[in-house]
Amino acid sequence: MNRPASVRHQSNSTNGENQPRKNRASPLPGDDRLTTGRSAIDGTGCFSRVSLPARKKFGEFIGEKISAREARARVARGGRISICDLDRRWSIDASASESPTAFINHACRPNAYTRIAQGRIWFYALRRIEAGEEITLDYRPSQHPERSCGCGLRQCRGLMG
Ligand SMILES: [Zn+2]
Repeated sequence: MNRPASVRHQSNSTNGENQPRKNRASPLPGDDRLTTGRSAIDGTGCFSRVSLPARKKFGEFIGEKISAREARARVARGGRISICDLDRRWSIDASASESPTAFINHACRPNAYTRIAQGRIWFYALRRIEAGEEITLDYRPSQHPERSCGCGLRQCRGLMG
């Protein structure tokens, strides 16, 4: 599986930097609405089991909190990487996570977006997402803008960056 590397979020938030790391043993209560499956875009993707209303939070990017420097080192090592930046100093690495949100693929016209609050990364529906639909995110700006995009949309930019 070739997964795109990283999402760089714009955030001035310093919330959470001094908080103890939270390792969530169990997924969010809402996570049973999400599942993984074979993606037409790339490898395994994240799908919704139910219809999700527009503009509503539906999940969290759950993983290990690491420094941005460590995140860059892990991206450079390659392999299946799923990392989101929290801010300039911290990132969340969900590469080892079994949470469906760790498998959200990039698309040039996504149906979801992220928001950072209290040092956590939350997913929101950009529009109504139908049951069975793959959940996608625009990874821009990505740490691998040169990677080709397989979203297949007419509006596809061809690259992740
Ligand atoms: Zn695309």
